[in-house]
Amino acid sequence: MENETVSRNFIENIIDKDLADGVYDTVHTRFPPEPNGYLHIGHAKSILLNYGLAKEYNGKFNMRFDDTNPTKEKSEFVESIKEDIKWLGADWEDRLFFASDYFDQMYEAAVKLIKKGKAYVCDLTADQIREYRGTLTEPGKESPYRNRSVEENLRLFEEMKEGKYGDGEKVLRAKIDMASPNMNMRDPVIYRVAHMTHHRTGDKWCIYPMYDFAHPIEDAIEGITHSICTLEFEDHRPLYDWVVRELEYPHPPKQIEFAKLYLTNVVTGKRYIKKLVEDGIVDGWDDPRLVSIAALRRRGYTPESIKMFVELCGVSKANSSVDYAMLEYCIREDLKLKRPRMMAVLDPLKLVIDNYPEGKTEYLEAPNNMENEELGTRQIPFGRELYIEREDFMADPPKKYKRLFPGTEVRLMNAYFVTCTGYEADEDGTVRVVHCTYDPETRGGNAPDGRKVKGTIHWVEAGHAGKALVRLYENIVDEEKGVYNKEDGSLNINPNSLTEVTAYVEPALMEAKGYDSFQFVRNGYFCADFRDSKEGAPVFNRIVSLKSSFKLPKA
Ligand code: ATP
Ligand code: MG
Repeated sequence: MENETVSRNFIENIIDKDLADGVYDTVHTRFPPEPNGYLHIGHAKSILLNYGLAKEYNGKFNMRFDDTNPTKEKSEFVESIKEDIKWLGADWEDRLFFASDYFDQMYEAAVKLIKKGKAYVCDLTADQIREYRGTLTEPGKESPYRNRSVEENLRLFEEMKEGKYGDGEKVLRAKIDMASPNMNMRDPVIYRVAHMTHHRTGDKWCIYPMYDFAHPIEDAIEGITHSICTLEFEDHRPLYDWVVRELEYPHPPKQIEFAKLYLTNVVTGKRYIKKLVEDGIVDGWDDPRLVSIAALRRRGYTPESIKMFVELCGVSKANSSVDYAMLEYCIREDLKLKRPRMMAVLDPLKLVIDNYPEGKTEYLEAPNNMENEELGTRQIPFGRELYIEREDFMADPPKKYKRLFPGTEVRLMNAYFVTCTGYEADEDGTVRVVHCTYDPETRGGNAPDGRKVKGTIHWVEAGHAGKALVRLYENIVDEEKGVYNKEDGSLNINPNSLTEVTAYVEPALMEAKGYDSFQFVRNGYFCADFRDSKEGAPVFNRIVSLKSSFKLPKA
């Protein structure tokens, strides 16, 4: 298109150049989670970035579990991660891999390095290795085991594999440069002894490859072209390149780093979430106040809204935090035209229409979405007794109040004009019932004589209303105080992050299924959830209110 300004991100620029220069003739990306927890919004960014690039360049996208560290990994996470990625819409087709499937090839790769004189078995303890490594300002010292013969190294490495040594007794190290200014290049450990059962290979191995050695091999085996990771691996890139070069892979992959996504006022650290779960502050790692992908889904976020968010964030080399309000903006935008706008009263107050026939029910037609006719219309029951929001009536209102008070006329949304005639209150002034009369000529919400009313309020008919538990959320952490406590690093918990109310809702809402979402007029967007529901009735979690504090920056 002529007027379209196509702004490419820096990764696309790199890929464009690689393709133009003939470095690669295709694009092949991957998402490589470690199955040691649930995925969160930051991972979603990585997934959509990698998958998006593969799609954009007509290339391929692999799903690979990076399960080289048997201590922390569990099969249960494998399934939840797959589910989350599918839900986000990233399709790995038939390319689902496990790094542990390559253990034999990794072992062979290590042997190859030994034979080339590029790796050696070292007997130093972990502490000694650290000591010998030097500092940022001082070069390291060579290990006394550095010059073992190829034969001896081959024998010892084999013995490591056979289980002859205990954990930590011996390691295999790359022989690079103890004086390198890059600490990662000072003879890094590439294999360690660990007598542990792996969730997939069981007890077949008692030596396991280190991440920096394993990852480039995984990429090379799968024919990955652009291995996209986050900024903390920038200093590891020379080692990545070294491994790929020394192992002489015909089509070396290229590592590219981008900045992690951080969000303000949310908790992403696994350690903290674990504590929130254990302390019973949230009801699991998919509690709607968290930003794991499962939590976002349960909250009512859509894959489209997360994609929009990730695109708005862009891809950059500089770390920064994105305002949580931007994520909220995206879900509002996504649901605005897609979802029906229904009536639900969260803080009910009885309204009686004294001139409406007792026992009568009529059905009124209402558009499902005023801005999108395609969603059609529905019939809503109407009768003599209704519920309205408590805040929509005031006995003695301030000047600018446009809703119901004695003597005024307002519109009941999609229904009639009503005029307040009085109210009943407790001794303490709490209003119990509001009385009014209606004008039968105003059916549908307009007066034939053209008279106007200042306010329109929503309602539900008392006899047919469903009773539903509604959960309202605020940030799990206290925004004012900041996420972490400055003294002890603990979380500053917001005591009001969850409010539960019993609402009256249109009968149609009681038919909602899990994850169905709606706009409740004037109250926000809500998503049906069945956790802790009573007798199978839906519980509605508020996704987001209608008010926005976020403004899209002008392009
Ligand atoms: P965490 O510590 O939050 O679990 P991680 O990097 O240890 O993150 P992995 O499972 O190792 O989690 O990561 C899988 C992929 O997701 C990696 O390529 C990683 O760089 C990427 N990733 C992780 N966190 C973020 C983030 N906040 N923003 C963007 N990408 C991320
Ligand atoms: Mg990790």
